[in-house]
Amino acid sequence: MSRIGIYPGSFDPITFGHLDIIQRSLHVVDKLTIAVSNNKSKNHFISIDERLMLIEQTIQDLPIEDQKRIEIEKFDNLLVHYVKSKNASVIIRGLRAVSDFEYEFLMTGMNRSIDNEIETIFLMSSEKYHFVSSRFIKEIHSLGGDISKSVPKPVLDFFAKIWNVHISTRAHSSAGRAPDF
Ligand code: ADP
Repeated sequence: MSRIGIYPGSFDPITFGHLDIIQRSLHVVDKLTIAVSNNKSKNHFISIDERLMLIEQTIQDLPIEDQKRIEIEKFDNLLVHYVKSKNASVIIRGLRAVSDFEYEFLMTGMNRSIDNEIETIFLMSSEKYHFVSSRFIKEIHSLGGDISKSVPKPVLDFFAKIWNVHISTRAHSSAGRAPDF
């Protein structure tokens, strides 16, 4: 029986930290669904379609056999319901530092209280990605810093192209909101 894992997250945008977790997960599951959260209340900086596209482009660099075991989807329902709907048994989460632990601990406990059959597996990324987060990427880039060691090329290209457009669109949106880093 093949083991299906779900790797949920915002991926706003995908980073080398996420990619590292994706590759490691393929050692523990047969099939992996990268589940991109479309939760409107989260105020993502990059649109859902763009986040999906950037993941799609990023995984093109993986060996073809690995690519065949990955699917990318958006989801906007309760994670445990989504996991069930995919016939998956495992949620994959990444851990960087102790600071991730409390949030992940609470989330796993909540998920377990809803469905006790779904297990969560935590994977640690390579040391060099311990400080990489989507949030820092956006902050560093907005201040003119170099993010090339932290994000795959499609993300770099995307930021180079759309960053200024995104900032001005958001700043002039009806909500008048600046990006919430
Ligand atoms: P969320 O919105 O739930 O924080 P993210 O897109 O930030 O989602 O991350 C999805 C998952 O990937 C989370 O489990 C997060 O801890 C993990 N993750 C993100 N960046 C890294 C990294 N650099 N190393 C290890 N895990 C990471």
